Amino acid sequence: MTRNVIIIGSGPAGLTAAIYAARANLKPLCIEGHMMDGMIPGGQLMITTEVENYPGFPEGITGPELMKHFRDQALRFGTEIITADVDRVDLSARPYKCYVGEDVYEANAVIVATGASARWLGLESEKLLQNRGVSACATCDGYFFREQDVCVVGGGDTAMEEALYLAGLCRSVTVIHRRKELRASKIMQERALKHPKISFLWDSVVEEVLDVAKGEVTGVRVKNIETGEVSVKECTGLFIAIGHIPSTKVFRDWLDTDELGYLVTKPDSTATKIDGVFACGDVQDHVFRQAVTAAGTGCMAAIEAERWLAANGLL
Ligand code: NDP
Repeated sequence: MTRNVIIIGSGPAGLTAAIYAARANLKPLCIEGHMMDGMIPGGQLMITTEVENYPGFPEGITGPELMKHFRDQALRFGTEIITADVDRVDLSARPYKCYVGEDVYEANAVIVATGASARWLGLESEKLLQNRGVSACATCDGYFFREQDVCVVGGGDTAMEEALYLAGLCRSVTVIHRRKELRASKIMQERALKHPKISFLWDSVVEEVLDVAKGEVTGVRVKNIETGEVSVKECTGLFIAIGHIPSTKVFRDWLDTDELGYLVTKPDSTATKIDGVFACGDVQDHVFRQAVTAAGTGCMAAIEAERWLAANGLL
């Protein structure tokens, strides 16, 4: 059976694409992912507690609840959803093929919405305190730390951006970076370095997030890798900003990625270099990475897929 469109991924981008495709009567199949590249169905919002910046929810909503709304809305209009990881695709000719183990799903158009995942330090305490003070998104969670002391780990543009954003809300921001030099662009460095609320711990790595026993962040144990000195920096929030990993593993042989590993789409479009294959959400956007922008590009992908199918006489 050849379908009109298969959507791979079920975060805000994939499910918005599903809602639009279903309402356009394309009868989409959404393969929502099981543990794709470490991702979970519903995407990064599934590991977020409170979402206060998604328009339409003035009181806020939890990430999992918001994703349930997305999913229910996609189902309501007839999206077929299966929970599985696509482990291989064949985009050499239409119909395109998506493999889940021995099963193969075929469609004339494919929308890739596999997202990205935050890179973490890999500490057990970091994992246990996620959503209890440990976050990978200042825009999402910074507001909960108003007038408090927070730390940011990383030395790139994201870390500087997060530190500057947090400096507008928090009492103090300490950037912990493993080297003496920042990787961030000069302009971001300068803005962070001269900000009165931001200070830096150089040559330093986080060894432990405290305090797992209390179930909340009270500080971090930091080691200076030059001197070996270990100290505790008190804080109530810890923002990890050491990069993201786009989930592109199964597409790398077929689609172009940029120098950061994100899928390349045509300007002002979600079209990839393969006709009928579209990419939306965090797998192609390393700049905004917001649920609302992912949903926006998911909508674009569905509209572009529908127009492409119609223009090619495939509907
Ligand atoms: P980057 O890869 O640029 O930086 C990651 C930072 O995290 C580096 O400083 C790195 O240290 C540090 N790091 C990595 N792994 C670890 C670890 N295990 N422990 C401790 N520290 C670690 O990622 P970004 O997310 O900052 O940026 C990604 C891209 O997006 C960049 O090209 C950036 O320019 C762009 N961007 C641009 C923005 C803008 O222009 N406004 C905003 C945000 C991102 P080290 O330096 O030692 O390698």
